[in-house]
Amino acid sequence: MKKLIKGVIIFVCLLNIKIVSKAQTIDFAPLDAYWKLIEPLKSGDSLSLITWKNFLDIEPNKIYVQNQGFDNDYLERLRKTIQLVYMSKNENILAKRVVAIDKDPSSYWLTYKVYVYKKYEKELKAFQNQLINPSYIPLIYKNSFEWLPKKLQNKDGKIDIHFLGIENDAIAGDGIVITTLWTLYNQDKLKMGGLLGHEMHHVLRKPITFPKIDEQDLGIIYFINATLNEGTADMIDKVVNIEYQGELPMGMSYKDFELFQADSIVAQVDINLIEMQKSEGKIFKTEKDYRNLVRWTSGHCPGYYMTDIVVRQGYKKRLMQNIQNPFEFIYLYNKAAKKDKEKPHVFSDEAIAYIKLMENKYWKYK
Ligand SMILES: [Zn+2]
Repeated sequence: MKKLIKGVIIFVCLLNIKIVSKAQTIDFAPLDAYWKLIEPLKSGDSLSLITWKNFLDIEPNKIYVQNQGFDNDYLERLRKTIQLVYMSKNENILAKRVVAIDKDPSSYWLTYKVYVYKKYEKELKAFQNQLINPSYIPLIYKNSFEWLPKKLQNKDGKIDIHFLGIENDAIAGDGIVITTLWTLYNQDKLKMGGLLGHEMHHVLRKPITFPKIDEQDLGIIYFINATLNEGTADMIDKVVNIEYQGELPMGMSYKDFELFQADSIVAQVDINLIEMQKSEGKIFKTEKDYRNLVRWTSGHCPGYYMTDIVVRQGYKKRLMQNIQNPFEFIYLYNKAAKKDKEKPHVFSDEAIAYIKLMENKYWKYK
């Protein structure tokens, strides 16, 4: 979880928590619990600590809170903010904040995140009803399959999708997808089932893991895996997000997140690879270095940028054929970048030589 601009929250797309699920379901329990939670507040009740704790103990809420690293202090502020937004005795304070929020949501970011669920309650509930439609899950798969080769176009009935009534994010991994209703409502306006198609892509792509990676290669392997993972999934939803960014509320547009300094990140990776190649792996950057380099975007930046170049140069089919091969992703990017009239950074021969060396070393053990 990272901040883009002051307090604006965006995606993290890998969650290493196992949850046992029996069949594919759309789970509205945490969301419905939220709608139930706020009702008494509207007629003046406060949100008791025990009610709040029980709410947070609902499994998907618990997983989400853990994944985002929300501590007790944050959760207590969230409880108080929910009281502030929904209890009528606070309406004067809220009204003042709303004036500020209308000018700049980040001025009272936490209040804003709760307030949108109040302001758009009617619209959000209508949207929730749309999701119950049996055509919704097939649409998620359709979006996902557009960016997967035939052999990976398999439905996975074990993936459960959980909806939350707090916050503004979505996470996925290991058979579970958790999304907040506010995020989904806004993203689906641009492309119905796009965001969940992205999250489903992470699960269905079945990324290759290598049993053993030498210490010096851990960082660069992280980078090529992460950019391939997020870059390809981003083709499902971020293309429309960036095209229609002006229509989205604050924190929902990902243009900067996806593209800020993407080309110079690629150039820096090239420098790192040249150093590795020349020093025969003695000079290297760690996984943490690469996480910093991609600004903790999980690989969205420069993954989206690189994949977009590959696709616009006509290599979508080859990308699909090699969607689990991070080495091929770099070769394809380079082939496309050489042809691209926007002159993106092209990896040097030394860098490609090191990628080839790693491919020879690891790909056979996949
Ligand atoms: Zn993702």
